Amino acid sequence: MIEVKVVALAGGTGSAKLLRGLKAETGSFTVVSNVGDNFWNHGLYVCPDVDIALYTLAGLADIEKGWGIAGDTYNVLRQLAALGEETWFNLGDRDIATHVFRTEQLARGNRLGDITLMFCERLKISQRILPCTDDRLETYIDTELGPMHLQEFWVKNHGEPGVTGVEYRGSDGAKAESRAVEALEEADRIIFCPANPVTSILPILSVDGIRRAVARSKARKVAVSPVIGDSPISGPAGKLMRAIGVSPTAASVARLYKGMVDVILIDAADESRRHEVEAEEVGARSGSILMNDRESERGLARLALEA
Ligand code: GDP
Repeated sequence: MIEVKVVALAGGTGSAKLLRGLKAETGSFTVVSNVGDNFWNHGLYVCPDVDIALYTLAGLADIEKGWGIAGDTYNVLRQLAALGEETWFNLGDRDIATHVFRTEQLARGNRLGDITLMFCERLKISQRILPCTDDRLETYIDTELGPMHLQEFWVKNHGEPGVTGVEYRGSDGAKAESRAVEALEEADRIIFCPANPVTSILPILSVDGIRRAVARSKARKVAVSPVIGDSPISGPAGKLMRAIGVSPTAASVARLYKGMVDVILIDAADESRRHEVEAEEVGARSGSILMNDRESERGLARLALEA
């Protein structure tokens, strides 16, 4: 076991696989989760990135699917559909218990960070998971049909509308979660998990206090590219990166994280393009960055812990 203070900045599906690898390789670490895709659905507050981290580290996640609890059932959603509700966002029955609990705690006046730590304790997770802010910060996609919440763009509209821009609504006034700031300032290593830069990592960094804590921290800062060659490994990162004016390559990821990271892990297949990353004044290490089983998750975690 490597004893260093590690903080992982995390989004959803790509990040979860690395978190599972990190859990196997190093016992304790803090996850600072994106909140930009949080939204209200059927009167419940849903935090997809926080939840995939919780379920992954509790050993409950359906990581292959990328969201939810493995083996969950969908009785509540079917009944909501029977009542005429829109059910484009999949919520399993056990997953709904999470959102009911969180929403009730919010109604009692508790903060998202405290509630997330309650989940860690009750699900017997030995790592800490914290949202980057307790405040409302939502990623909106500017599309040809008008601005829409990220979930409406990606889940309801299958990522199909043309995109002209991206906004992090609420980021201006959002206060960084204080324990997340402390963890970043004290970290030996900050790992930017493989994630969609536009909808997972940049919303976290759009919180001024988080951005400053990352910049100020003496930690070694390592990002994992979510892109190999000219394509992201999954999801809408390509379309969204183009919409903010960059091509989907590891070098563009380096440009977006410039000043925040020391080194970016790129795939061995991109070794010949290492100079493009280095031209952005970010170091590059190549290796196998594709995670398709537990061994490759651990292998990438080791690279991220050692780079
Ligand atoms: P989302 O909310 O599901 O889009 O979650 P993320 O922000 O975590 O985005 C997933 C990102 O992770 C995508 O851009 C993928 O290209 C990337 N990704 C998925 N699987 C892997 C993998 O095995 N390795 C790496 N390096 N990146 C991955």
